[in-house]
Amino acid sequence: MSSIEKNIEDIQEDIKNYSIYPEKVKFIAVTKYVQSDVMDEILNCNVRVFGENKAQVIKEKYEKYNSENKDDIEWHFIGNLQKNKVKYIASFIKLIHSVNKLSLAQEIDKRALQNNRKIDVLLEINIAGEESKEGYDLEDLYGELPELMALNNINIIGLMTMAPFTDDKELVTRVFRRLREIKDELNERYFKGQLTELSMGMTNDYKLALKEGATLIRVGRKIYEK
Ligand SMILES: *Cc1c(COP(=O)(O)O)cnc(C)c1O
Repeated sequence: MSSIEKNIEDIQEDIKNYSIYPEKVKFIAVTKYVQSDVMDEILNCNVRVFGENKAQVIKEKYEKYNSENKDDIEWHFIGNLQKNKVKYIASFIKLIHSVNKLSLAQEIDKRALQNNRKIDVLLEINIAGEESKEGYDLEDLYGELPELMALNNINIIGLMTMAPFTDDKELVTRVFRRLREIKDELNERYFKGQLTELSMGMTNDYKLALKEGATLIRVGRKIYEK
């Protein structure tokens, strides 16, 4: 067995062992570190969900696989997205995890309409209040919610966060738990249960995220460990 195959099996096993609802969890293979030779190996492990953080790169990779008729791959955009790059991904992207301001949401909405589709998005929340992190402060989010919710060509289906980079497991757990609470609160007050997804957990902390209810884990480095 190759190390990639083994690592992917381990991740899938961890989902079963740590998640509170393993059947709801989707593992996104973050492929921003690798080229198509390695991505082919991941596809051979029956993984069909790729995450990337650069618009032009994800577009190129999408086009390559699409031209090979591998059109059952889901492409997720996971990083900071600049408005002027939305046009590269609007025709095919499955989910944008990182909506962090109204102007970005408006651009996605506009490009979705041009492509005659609706685009699923997550709202990225900055829970720990770290200045270095992208993502909405809660107050700003509440201020912009009416306008966000009025956009007809985006579907807001959940929330995303990145935990602080630390060994403090309790702190990380609190951040993930808080995201879940915010989702519940938003569902109750505004979204009527429409928010179903919690994108949280990366190589360092996905087990903690699974325990706190992650439905989407974004794992990269762990796949490529030797
Ligand atoms: C790179 C990246 C990941 C994956 O992180 P790993 O530590 O490689 O598992 C997850 N989410 C985002 C937003 C990223 O940019």
